[in-house]
Parts: sequence; structure tokens; C-alpha cells
Amino acid sequence: MQNECSNATQLTALFGGTFDPIHYGHLKPVTAMANEVGLQNVTLLPNHVPPHRPQPEANAQQRLKMVELAIQGNPLFSVDERELHRTIPSYTIDTLEEVRRERGANAPLAFIIGQDSLLTLHKWHRWEEILHYCHLLVCARPGYSDRLDTPESQQWLEKHQVFDAKRLSQQPHGYIYLADTPLLAISATDIRQRRHQGISCDDLLPRAVQRYIELQGLYR
Ligand code: ATP
Repeated sequence: MQNECSNATQLTALFGGTFDPIHYGHLKPVTAMANEVGLQNVTLLPNHVPPHRPQPEANAQQRLKMVELAIQGNPLFSVDERELHRTIPSYTIDTLEEVRRERGANAPLAFIIGQDSLLTLHKWHRWEEILHYCHLLVCARPGYSDRLDTPESQQWLEKHQVFDAKRLSQQPHGYIYLADTPLLAISATDIRQRRHQGISCDDLLPRAVQRYIELQGLYR
């Protein structure tokens, strides 16, 4: 018998990213998503970038530190360092498999992405299997189409899409939910370019992260 405090039907979510650096375009839509679908916890998952891919400007330890500073004192967020500790190339699907094993077959689990990532999801390793492990929660992002680019992928989206957020807690995985989150035209690329050009990044990312970037001399 489940005790009254059981979290078995509590939806939780992971949010992966390079976070080079983390910014309000990550934090604000995801916070709005949490309110919209009733998430108590979002685990930020900084990515390991394999050596054969273009490297982030900040190293893994700096990206992790920026994430920690950005969420300090905010009970909604936690951070999971597992991908950063990997020495061999790994994919999101590997992490999802691992987390699913840890949480058990019945725990509702979601993976949060932005609209741009939804549009390129078909290029992810074993992308068709993602919904076997989690739901996908999609944050709106300005400048990206709200339709997928082939009839097949649009059909796939419509087959799995749900409009009532309550359904996300009723199944462990398998649904796609497109949220009505605020549109923020912020990207890490733009922040890095602004820094290179000496343009202010105030209002684009938390103060503590900005201070750390200054102290470490990042993105100059
Ligand atoms: P870069 O500019 O270096 O590509 P980014 O700003 O897109 O970086 P990532 O760390 O690559 O940030 O993104 C992690 C996740 O956050 C992705 O799923 C992405 O779609 C989402 N995301 C990033 N910025 C926004 C934004 N402004 N609005 C909504 N989602 C976002």
C-alpha cells in the first residue's frame, strides 16, 4: 500500500542544456512551465559535450558553477551532474534510460525542451524512443516555427500531443505538451557575442552569473 506522502504520481522534469551560459531564456520559460503543469521540481542537466563536437567556451566546471549560481536559493530547481562526469560520449536517451531505471516504471517523468529543439528532435540519437521514457514539455521560443517541417513529423507530434496538463501525471511517459510560456528572445550565442563586443548583458541572465562571468573573464 502506498503511504500518503508517496510521490509516485508526482510529475518531475529534467531540463538539459549546454548552459554556456545559463540565462533567463532558460529560467523564465521553465519556471512558467512548472506553474502551468504543476511541477514541484526541475532538475537541470548540464550536457557533456564530446571532444569531436564544437566545444563550449566555458569549461564543464564553469558551466556547472553558473547553473548552481543561477538556481541558488530557488527551491524549484536542482542540478544533476551525471552527464558532466561521463568520459565516453553519451546521449540524452542514455540519461533518460538511466533516470527511468532509478525512478521506477510508474513515476511520471518529463524532459523539457525549447521549440527550436522540438524542430530538430528527429536528428537526436534514437529520437523515436524518447517518449518511451518520458513526456516532452516544450517551451515556446520566438523565431521558431510552430509546425514541424515534414508531414510525418507533424503527424507524430499530433499523435502524442495532449492539451490538458493533468494527463501528464496520469501516465509515466508518452505525451507531448506545448506550453504557453513567455517568449524570450535570449540565447547563449547572443550573450557570448555581446560579451565579445563589450555590450551589456544586464537583464539577460542572473546577476550572480554575470558576476561569475566577469570574475572568470569568460566570453571575452
Ligand atoms: P546556444 O545559443 O549556445 O545554442 P541556447 O541559448 O539555445 O544556446 P542551450 O543550452 O543550448 O541554450 O539550450 C538548452 C535548452 O533550452 C534547449 O532545449 C533550448 O531549446 C532551450 N532554450 C534556450 N533558450 C531558450 C529561450 N530563449 N526560450 C525557450 N527555450 C530556450
